[in-house]
Amino acid sequence: MGITCKQATDYILKKEEGRLTLRQRYHLWRHLAVCIFCRLFQKQNKLINASLKQHGTHDHLDEEFKETVIKAMNDDSGTEKETGGL
Ligand SMILES: [Zn+2]
Repeated sequence: MGITCKQATDYILKKEEGRLTLRQRYHLWRHLAVCIFCRLFQKQNKLINASLKQHGTHDHLDEEFKETVIKAMNDDSGTEKETGGL
């Protein structure tokens, strides 16, 4: 039993906002242990947040930018190509 990369990235974003339950954190931790892609995503997400804070960007732009990055990364990976779910 595990979580998908999609869930993991979602958890990573929620974790930044402190909105993750203990169980979700455990699943995320388990996923990050085996998935280099999501580890990279977490790293990038931290960098993005840090740089956005430096530039004093507005919150809504923050979210929008993160969405864009997630989409770009999903396209890049090429692992999920409109399979229409499981
Ligand atoms: Zn993953």
